[in-house]
Amino acid sequence: MALQQSKLSKQRSRMRRAANRYRGLQPGKCGMCGEAVIPHRVCAKCGHYKGRQVVSVTAE
Ligand SMILES: [Zn+2]
Repeated sequence: MALQQSKLSKQRSRMRRAANRYRGLQPGKCGMCGEAVIPHRVCAKCGHYKGRQVVSVTAE
């Protein structure tokens, strides 16, 4: 950025660099079936959330 170094705060530079470091939502693992799941979402495979059945999933 075209701004003299002394005027740019450490926080501001660090905030800019942190934004570039963001890698999006990191998948976690379902506690019931071990499937990769998006955080704070019901598991698509078994329908569990926080250790209990929330949505009934029809088995194929
Ligand atoms: Zn699951």
